[in-house]
Amino acid sequence: MRITDVRCAVLGEHPVVRIVTDEGIDGYGQVESTKSYVKWHVLFYREHLLGEDPTDVARVMRKIRRLGAFKPWGSAVSAIEMALWDITGKAYGVPVYKLLGGKLRDRVRIYNGGVRQPLRGYQPEHFVEHVRFMKQAPERFSIVKVSVGYHGPMFDALPGARYGDPVRGATPYLSRGPLTERGLRHLVTCVEAMKAELGEEIGLALDCGPGWTVPDAIRFARAVEHLNLLWLEDLITGDYTPYVLADVYREVTEQTTVPIHTGEQIYLRENFVELIERHAVRIIGPDPADVGGLAELKWVAEYADLHGILIAPHGIYDGLIGLAALVHVCATLPDNFIAFEYPVARPEWWYDIVVGLPDPIVVDGHIAVWDSPGLGVTFDVERARQYLAEEDRGFFD
Ligand SMILES: [Mg+2]
Repeated sequence: MRITDVRCAVLGEHPVVRIVTDEGIDGYGQVESTKSYVKWHVLFYREHLLGEDPTDVARVMRKIRRLGAFKPWGSAVSAIEMALWDITGKAYGVPVYKLLGGKLRDRVRIYNGGVRQPLRGYQPEHFVEHVRFMKQAPERFSIVKVSVGYHGPMFDALPGARYGDPVRGATPYLSRGPLTERGLRHLVTCVEAMKAELGEEIGLALDCGPGWTVPDAIRFARAVEHLNLLWLEDLITGDYTPYVLADVYREVTEQTTVPIHTGEQIYLRENFVELIERHAVRIIGPDPADVGGLAELKWVAEYADLHGILIAPHGIYDGLIGLAALVHVCATLPDNFIAFEYPVARPEWWYDIVVGLPDPIVVDGHIAVWDSPGLGVTFDVERARQYLAEEDRGFFD
């Protein structure tokens, strides 16, 4: 089998990759909704993929993997890898999880991810309202994650919460620096209120940064130790930070019982080595749509497991093809797997153009693993076609 074309169309906000072969089998991959510009990265790789056998996934990936980088520059490579597995599964009539070593679980635990409402403010009652919505969601989540602190405008919005000034730029979460005692106390009060609302039945994780100083990160982590939080995410580095600072993370991790989490922005296994071997964090969170693909994420998870480190993959903006990819790879991860971040498709019409997902998708906080070949999801082409931009008209042809 040979690759005859590599196409990319932006559907809604998602770049979608379609790899076409000479045997009439095609495969799809998807890029996060926030990265429509990645279309041009995908097309950049096209000439290196034409003529290759898509079922030799590692051999194809060897040609392009070194051209990617930390978020957002690894997205195109990752989406191409997804599409290669999709083709290979269809070619041999097996689900992608079989190609990755087989499943260890029949259903995969998720956490709320895209199921949330915007915060109406940054007082304890606003956070309580925020988690109550997640607690009452029909998906019946056993874990919810809330954005606090520097992962959003909270510290800039609260007068006297921090010493520095707000920073805005081409990527989110650029504000960083020391907090005041008032800022720190206020956040602890909000977290206590959320945990009281959720009770023991629902685990609480916090997406916190990046942007914290080491002393504030340690003070905060220690101040919330009595709440048994699942993790504190991206305190030091994180979203759109092209480095890991393993030794800095290790200082925080060693000073608290709260599990410290990072890794959604990291590209390739090589860039997890320091974090894992130095035991810099307790939990890693690679995203299959950024780390370099499904086999890459699987390798990182296995290596983390050897070092006593857990994994809770990122995925909130990965869309429905990305959701299928998450289900397949997470079904194969070792017992250090906690849950992955559940993406919600936007716009709403995405649910009308993708076929193959369970209905309902989530039951009792889990997604049942399905057995159809490849990723097991595809497009209702006649419905999907209407959402193509003029320049992408030939995408499904
Ligand atoms: Mg995050």
